[in-house]
Amino acid sequence: MAYDDANVFARILRGEIPAKKLYEDAHVLAFNDIRPQTPVHILVIPKGRYVSLDDFAERATDAETAAVLRALARLAREAGVAASGYRVLANNGRDANQEVPHLHFHLFGGKNLGRMIKPVDG
Ligand code: AMP
Repeated sequence: MAYDDANVFARILRGEIPAKKLYEDAHVLAFNDIRPQTPVHILVIPKGRYVSLDDFAERATDAETAAVLRALARLAREAGVAASGYRVLANNGRDANQEVPHLHFHLFGGKNLGRMIKPVDG
């Protein structure tokens, strides 16, 4: 899938729409999800134009890759959920219902998160 520069996270990165920024470095931006599903719901995105994890794994530099992982752990600490526990999730493609075609990692926490995945017929 080609990268679409009109996607909402590209627009946040360009400063065209606001976001509650929590962390930023040369490679990463993190901000609160606009529709939080848990008390802590942070989105961590690479600044580069990557559609999916596949795309990122293929093309990102080692520095970009490390920066994303480090930001996730740092934000979990700063949000106060490192000790209680949290979940990191990235929806990729159709079956995962990825809505925004710019790679993003959800960081969920602040309550017991229950089962990892809702049962298909549950
Ligand atoms: P996904 O289904 O994994 O693509 O998730 C996309 C996420 O982006 C959802 O949790 C949305 O609530 C979130 N989102 C969409 N627009 C914005 C925005 N302008 N600012 C922050 N989060 C957003």
